[in-house]
Amino acid sequence: MTDGTEKRKRTVAKRPSSKPRGPRADRLDEARSDHDAVALLRAQLEEKVGELTESNRQLKRKIFDLYTVFEISRNFNAVLKYQSLLDTFIFTCLGQVGALKGAIFLNAENHPQAFSLVKSKGSGSFPKPQQAFRENSRLVEYVTRLNRPVLVTDLVNDLATAEDLEILHHFHSGIVVPLIYQTRIIGLFAMSDKISGREFQLDDIEFLSILGNQIAVAIENARLYEAEKMATTALREAQQQLLQTERLAALGQMSASIAHEVNNPLGIIKNYLLLVRRTIQESPQSLGHLGVVEQEIDRIAAIVRQLLEFHRPKPMVMDPVDLVGVINDVLSFMGRLLESAGVEVIRDYQGESFVVMGSADSLKQVFLNLLINARDAMPDGGKVTIRVRRVQEHVLTEVADTGPGVSPDVASHIFEPFFTTKEVGKGTGLGLSVCYGIIKSHNGSITFRNLNPGCCFEISLPAAQKD
Ligand code: ADP
Repeated sequence: MTDGTEKRKRTVAKRPSSKPRGPRADRLDEARSDHDAVALLRAQLEEKVGELTESNRQLKRKIFDLYTVFEISRNFNAVLKYQSLLDTFIFTCLGQVGALKGAIFLNAENHPQAFSLVKSKGSGSFPKPQQAFRENSRLVEYVTRLNRPVLVTDLVNDLATAEDLEILHHFHSGIVVPLIYQTRIIGLFAMSDKISGREFQLDDIEFLSILGNQIAVAIENARLYEAEKMATTALREAQQQLLQTERLAALGQMSASIAHEVNNPLGIIKNYLLLVRRTIQESPQSLGHLGVVEQEIDRIAAIVRQLLEFHRPKPMVMDPVDLVGVINDVLSFMGRLLESAGVEVIRDYQGESFVVMGSADSLKQVFLNLLINARDAMPDGGKVTIRVRRVQEHVLTEVADTGPGVSPDVASHIFEPFFTTKEVGKGTGLGLSVCYGIIKSHNGSITFRNLNPGCCFEISLPAAQKD
């Protein structure tokens, strides 16, 4: 077979070129050019298929990204809690783009004119909270103007200050996304370290660009929502305080008028009692009964006095009073009582000048009532901490115990006259209302809060001005 072929080849070679070409040769040439054309076509086709596959891939990613963005923005709008919103955003970006770390920089309280790190996720190093991008820096102005994500390599050349560079070196080969709300930049998002080890692609930039705008809107919504929530809470508290003040004032007025009415007949009864005592001196039993009547009258008189104290229509004589001196005086005569009830007293006086303008006797009454209540709240003993300190122009005093605290259902009533949870005969329900009246007439405030365990009464009084 080899010989035959060789012979044929030779025969072909020997054929003179001038000889006319036969139909077979033409067919052969035709076949050859057909073959080339097919190969060329195939190459072109393959190239086209490649291009289509790539654009199909890009299209699929775009659809997927858009779908994700749509889903995420729906979720973002539903998340009104600021912190969880930031968490969701970073997680989504890292997962979607396939990167290892990301961080959000926003205005923080300690950095009002700059964007500092408020949330970060992933592995590797991150900037410290005190490091920040200045709001008016060239870098921030540049990304705001561009209004799209920028590769860190494009920022480090001549746009970034030394301060910016220190932050950016944690994200080298990464990307910085401006978070723009309407036309204003509200923060930056930086991410880096793609898991694939590749650079950030156009797809990533487009995706992050859309998501950056979405998160900026969601952040502003969440901020507005939180600010509104805080304002509503503050308003509700103020309203409640106003209501409480008004209720107490009305109750005070009513109790004062009742006290006046009771006071006069009480005086008369007492005088007549003295007369009766003189006339029935012979019967010791009757004298005993009279003693009980007198005791009970004194008790009513004490309650009436307290009621008048609560309303206090008559002006008090105000002198410079050392509050710590007042407290120490009360403790010196309450000391034994507290000790026998197993109550340890801790005095925590921080600072020096605790002088207020006031009536020492009335202020003593306040601390006496608070200490009696603390003792009553701890029948098995406990601790009372009295803390006094200066806060600007005020002297703040806290009386804290380790008792059961005040239950929420009674908390709004404890300053009302005659409100008591103590058993009959033990409490009059006037102690705190008297304290309230006295502190109000000193232009101060008295509030309470529950501790864990126990509760704390806080009194704020204006400090006396030094002349
Ligand atoms: P009273 O002591 O006569 O009951 P107060 O006006 O002094 O009247 O107190 C009113 C109520 O406030 C008390 O009955 C008690 O329920 C509550 N209270 C006051 N101080 C304390 C305290 N330190 N711990 C727990 N509850 C307290």
